[in-house]
Amino acid sequence: MKNLEIMTTILEKIKEYDRIMLFRHIRNDGDCVGATKGLKRIIQLTWPEKEVYLIDEDLAKYLDFMGPEDEPVADDLYADALGIVLDTASESRISNKKYTLCKELVKIDHHIPLENYGSYIWVEEEKSSACEMVVKFYSAFRDQLKIDSEAATYLYTGMVTDTGRFRYSDVDGDTLRHAAILLDVGVDTETLYARLYLEAFEYLKFKAHIYQKMQITENGVAYIFVDCDMQKEFGLSLEQASAVIGNLDSIRGCICWIAFIETGDEQNTIRVRLRSRFVHINSIAEKYRGGGHASASGATLYGREEIDALLRDADAHVKNYKENNEGWL
Ligand code: AMP
Repeated sequence: MKNLEIMTTILEKIKEYDRIMLFRHIRNDGDCVGATKGLKRIIQLTWPEKEVYLIDEDLAKYLDFMGPEDEPVADDLYADALGIVLDTASESRISNKKYTLCKELVKIDHHIPLENYGSYIWVEEEKSSACEMVVKFYSAFRDQLKIDSEAATYLYTGMVTDTGRFRYSDVDGDTLRHAAILLDVGVDTETLYARLYLEAFEYLKFKAHIYQKMQITENGVAYIFVDCDMQKEFGLSLEQASAVIGNLDSIRGCICWIAFIETGDEQNTIRVRLRSRFVHINSIAEKYRGGGHASASGATLYGREEIDALLRDADAHVKNYKENNEGWL
């Protein structure tokens, strides 16, 4: 099995340490929360005598049902602990900066590795989610590890959210086989989907507004700018405003779509969320202080002027793709 050697090393490290600290990325999402919580639960079920901590910022509102997190502990408790960072490509995106205090660090991730960190690195960039990697880990050592429906629900949540409900192109047979392991353990999918996908009446009104305001470049990049005024008008948190990206994903001919979210901070920071089908767009994100996956990346702009430059680059990129490829829709 691919990567069995590094997975075995990680298992041995978990066995070796009495205390384990889990870490994830800033601006938490279903995958990094599901992966950290799922792995924590598996370790605790398997070795109840170990101390396992997940100390991090509050969960995004739509993930509240997975909380709460552990209370902070004294710094010296990190010193003889094993740190495991999940779903985080670069050190700057690790949310709890105390990871540097850990004795040794493991990285488990599925992002394109722009930069590596840690003594033990298990990266599979073709995997659909970090949660899937945790399930793969469980599955490889299932004769030694324990799981229950609580852990399965955390991990299934991350798999569902990071694959757009198993729609994205990185979903393969293994993804579904790993999801099947979790369903066999027990996941209440009706409740989970209701928690994740029901929308407030007011939010649907906002969506209607988005559809009025969205625009499209000459070669088919759909985009929307959610400025501070719009966020105020509809009473949106930054997180809710950022979720608009999902509303631009089904326009025929628009193989790339982008949301620009004004954060209203002093530097005039604009959060950019880029998505695509067929064409890869991570190179555009990397040019604008970002990165991510081939078809789902993020970037950071300072000032509205940079929006036009990014849109020009994205439009040229899409033009080039369309001219040189067939079969896109
Ligand atoms: P988002 O639009 O925030 O969901 O991000 C999509 C993907 O790109 C996620 O996997 C993020 O981890 C990654 N990403 C977002 N912003 C950045 C950034 N500034 N630098 C590197 N990766 C990013």
